[in-house]
Amino acid sequence: MTGSFKVQLINMGTRAAAFQAKLRALHEYHVRLLHNVLPAPSGVDIANNIKYFSQTLLTVLKDVRTSPHELIRDPLEDPTRMSAYPNLEYGNLYNALTMLIDVAPCIQYGQIVFGKALLQCLSCILPFLDKDLIDNLPYLVSSTISVLPPALHQDIVNALCYYILPFTITRRSSDEQECQACQSVSSVIMMVLQYSNNPAHHCQLLECLMTLKHNVVKDILCVVAYGTAVSRTSAAKLLFYYWPAFNANLFDRKVLLSKLTNDLVPFTCQREHCPNSGNAEAAKVCYDHSISIAYAPDCPPPLYLCIECANEIHREHGSLEFGDILHPMQQVSMVCENKNCRSNEKAAFSI
Ligand SMILES: [Zn+2]
Ligand SMILES: [Zn+2]
Ligand SMILES: [Zn+2]
Repeated sequence: MTGSFKVQLINMGTRAAAFQAKLRALHEYHVRLLHNVLPAPSGVDIANNIKYFSQTLLTVLKDVRTSPHELIRDPLEDPTRMSAYPNLEYGNLYNALTMLIDVAPCIQYGQIVFGKALLQCLSCILPFLDKDLIDNLPYLVSSTISVLPPALHQDIVNALCYYILPFTITRRSSDEQECQACQSVSSVIMMVLQYSNNPAHHCQLLECLMTLKHNVVKDILCVVAYGTAVSRTSAAKLLFYYWPAFNANLFDRKVLLSKLTNDLVPFTCQREHCPNSGNAEAAKVCYDHSISIAYAPDCPPPLYLCIECANEIHREHGSLEFGDILHPMQQVSMVCENKNCRSNEKAAFSI
């Protein structure tokens, strides 16, 4: 055994041991919250522990050669994707996070810090998960909206739209069937409609889904048919807003629109040293995991960038390609805009 290889092995062993110890601490927090053992851990304590895992996962991810976010699109590549990582207890970490979500309402102080760390870690762990856990992830993340405070609802919708849904419900399936994650989409919609009373969140989620999968209208109809009372009402509004042909008088659409314009929060540039100090709307996305982590060390890939940062990074890495981000649906006129229109039926249709 050469000296440097030996050192490398020892480092790996140390990391695995540290990972295990931190996992035990997470379980300890869970037990104390569950059984109300004093002193109860604060959200800040738990968040600090969770941040260790996010940082470890990003450090591991940075060294991987083939893009895990590219491989994840094809379930047949799952063994290749997962063999690129050192042997750490990723599945156990996922389970520990799941159990913490259950006891989140018991956290007295620091719920916001806890919630942010949790959402970030759930986005970081995605490329490390096996098929079953990937399929469960969209619903798991959406379910946090039932236990985290309303101040985090926007963060939850952002986590879903920018980090979770694009890499889970888009996975290829062998037999033309929808993948498991896809089948959970109506439950994800129901969760968000049930617990967020902000129509801007509803629209953001729906517009994101429409860019990622077919037949979102079926998922909405599913919520209208089988959802809870609250989620059904909102689902019906969304149905009439995005598919106006379903509703003759267009009343709900106007109400929803006026609310929307006030509440829509743009997703901003995530680069650590953005010259616009994180206030500029993200317009481009970089899927290269190494570049992403290099420019935003605390952020899970992919990296969402304002135009200025995208241009700057492009100058340094000429071969890099960026994706575009869809902006919220323009407020389209609801009635015919032709001044000489002689029709009795003035509702506008797109052609
Ligand atoms: Zn536990
Ligand atoms: Zn920027
Ligand atoms: Zn007309």
